[in-house]
Amino acid sequence: MNSPDTRIDPTAESIRAASCADDYDPNSMPVDKARAFIDRFVAPVAETQRLPLRAALGHVLAEDIVSPFDVPLADNSAMDGYALRHAEVDGRDGVTLKVVGTAFAGRTYAGAIGPGECLRIMTGGVVPAGLDCVVPQEHTRPGDGVVTFGAGIRHAQNVRYAGEDMRRDAVVLRRGQWLRPAETGLLASLGIGEVTVFRRLRVAFFSTGDELVSIGGTLGEGQVYDSNRYTIHGMLTRMGIDLIDMGVVRDDPATLEAQFAQAARAADVVITSGGVSVGEADFIKQMLERLGEVVFWKIAMKPGRPLAYGKIGGAHFFGLPGNPVSVMVTFYQFVREPLWKMMGRDPLPLLPVFKATCTTALKKAPGRTEFQRGVLSASADGGWQVRPTGEQGSGILSSMVQANCFIVMPEAQGNVAPGALVEVQMLEGLI
Ligand code: AMP
Ligand code: MG
Repeated sequence: MNSPDTRIDPTAESIRAASCADDYDPNSMPVDKARAFIDRFVAPVAETQRLPLRAALGHVLAEDIVSPFDVPLADNSAMDGYALRHAEVDGRDGVTLKVVGTAFAGRTYAGAIGPGECLRIMTGGVVPAGLDCVVPQEHTRPGDGVVTFGAGIRHAQNVRYAGEDMRRDAVVLRRGQWLRPAETGLLASLGIGEVTVFRRLRVAFFSTGDELVSIGGTLGEGQVYDSNRYTIHGMLTRMGIDLIDMGVVRDDPATLEAQFAQAARAADVVITSGGVSVGEADFIKQMLERLGEVVFWKIAMKPGRPLAYGKIGGAHFFGLPGNPVSVMVTFYQFVREPLWKMMGRDPLPLLPVFKATCTTALKKAPGRTEFQRGVLSASADGGWQVRPTGEQGSGILSSMVQANCFIVMPEAQGNVAPGALVEVQMLEGLI
């Protein structure tokens, strides 16, 4: 465990002071303003670690990577064929050259190649200095120790030049880069077997509510299984985060306080679901005010109105609403980017957002941002069309299963007529 102030930027301003200084209404907080507020307090973790390449997959690079040599190292052939001097065939059809030897993949042909001569070469074979194009073998007529070429040969064709992928001493990956298979492959192509990455982020989470039953228990009337534990687990796991799953915590002040304190000691970030809505917030509010600095908002959005954000000890705290759809929507809109930022990712991944034709009418009241669950598909005219999944209640988790996108309706927007363009945010880009 780390001491709190090495985990999170210790210079950050007071959340409570900032929330008082800002000219917003905590009972109707615009989505963008809440996101900008949280962003001010979030910084990358300080600690880094050296990891072997395979283990580094899914981590964020904490150093710039400079290419130690040209990639490829030498000019080489992109085809199986013949390497020659372009000037010898220049536009003419039926030129015959003598074949003096062969360069296999990764090999250099040691001999000299004089006028009237060419070299048989395999893909990856080194193109000797002086030769400047490769003609694929299927465009030639081989003879006895000679080969005849057709017309239309271009200078430099099928030659892969030294350094055309990466130049020696060039920065080829930057600090902040999330390491995907392409990046680990590229590092391997430079012979780099170990890199410095930001350490993994630790997130503790629990569900609150007396009505919740864990899987394995039997549901009584009015009780529900704790599904948020699984959606939050899934969303965090897919980001490559270390989890501390604290299960269900009863709506009991002493137990909750102990769990909040323990979570904040163990993790960089604490996420809870439930307990921040109007009826429940009061005692939690008082408790969190004792434990740290937390602001409680009603976000001008649907679903997912209540949201709490703050610091408990050195840990960031996100108090998400309890409704299962609200949990996912608020996680994606308010938690995901701060987590990436704490993980060191720079630039932050953009959410693919684009316009699509809405095939049905949508009811929408101005004054709040709505995230309806939608199904996006190709339309007959070659564009994209979207329809809502159906019932949009914040407890209808099956809407998240059916959806492949959010239909995002900005604050000022009113009802949507069939055929109008709406903004769409892909779920695939979120996870
Ligand atoms: P709350 O925000 O605590 O008032 O909860 C709002 C609604 O979400 C209630 O109907 C809860 O039963 C439901 N809910 C809260 N937590 C969970 C959970 N972990 N899993 C499933 N439903 C939940
Ligand atoms: Mg509750």
